[in-house]
Amino acid sequence: MTSENKVAVITGAASGIGRALAVHYAQHGVHSVIGTFPGDPHDPEETLRLVKDAGGEAAIQQVDVRSTSSVDGFAQRAMDEYGRLDYAIANAGILRNSPLEEMTDERWHDMLNVDLTGVLRTLRAGAARMTEGGALVAVSSIAGGVYGWEEHAHYAAAKAGVLGLIRSVAVELGPRRIRANAVIPGLIETPQSLDSINSLGPEGLQRAGKDIPWGRVGRPEEVASVIGFLTSDDSRYMTGQSLIVDGGLTVKMRA
Ligand code: NAD
Repeated sequence: MTSENKVAVITGAASGIGRALAVHYAQHGVHSVIGTFPGDPHDPEETLRLVKDAGGEAAIQQVDVRSTSSVDGFAQRAMDEYGRLDYAIANAGILRNSPLEEMTDERWHDMLNVDLTGVLRTLRAGAARMTEGGALVAVSSIAGGVYGWEEHAHYAAAKAGVLGLIRSVAVELGPRRIRANAVIPGLIETPQSLDSINSLGPEGLQRAGKDIPWGRVGRPEEVASVIGFLTSDDSRYMTGQSLIVDGGLTVKMRA
């Protein structure tokens, strides 16, 4: 992979897929700005420790993707710290359970503000600071990106919206030679999916894993390496695409 000395900003990098990506980048010579959301209990210092153990370099920056000025400041940190920005990864997301009859406008807007508009803010702030060769990646989901999911209409709508957003941004930024792609994770073991109230929880994941052709749920690093591919020169002629990373979950026929 040819990404040496590049600089990435990653939202939601104090946990899960974002943390694994910071470590992946450290292993490949990419410096990261680790986005951490102060409202959550995740520890960005642990991400930084793992980055350093992998021989990499990173800076920690608080970011709330619900705020344009916060996201702009986050992307700017890459410029201030390293003098450049090559990759912007819109990874931050929330997952909430809400049956349709309880789906108030407020719940809907709160979800879309993070999982869709938050992605727009991250891509926009990143692209504004990039030159030729830059790459954007957004994290969608098989919920919305492929399937519907009962009691998660707002989440699925946001994650489907991310795909239209990525395609359009890819077309718009092509002339500037900045690429935009998405990953569509299946079931990955992270704090989000381990939440028994809003997602499957530990037992649900265990059960679901048995029905996945690969025989288990995914690991954060198995999504991170695909994001790494999508920002590297190895995918330099790919833009506007989305890659499903799900151990075969979505291609398995069910009766
Ligand atoms: P996670 O909960 O560990 O990561 C989500 C991160 O987003 C957290 O670090 C959290 O602090 C951050 N965040 C939440 N609200 C924020 C805000 N307002 N501003 C900035 N950051 C905020 O779970 P994860 O699974 O690593 O999630 C990463 C992405 O992957 C999410 O977009 C999620 O929807 C997506 N995804 C996950 C799965 C899965 O099975 N785990 C499947 C499909 C898609």
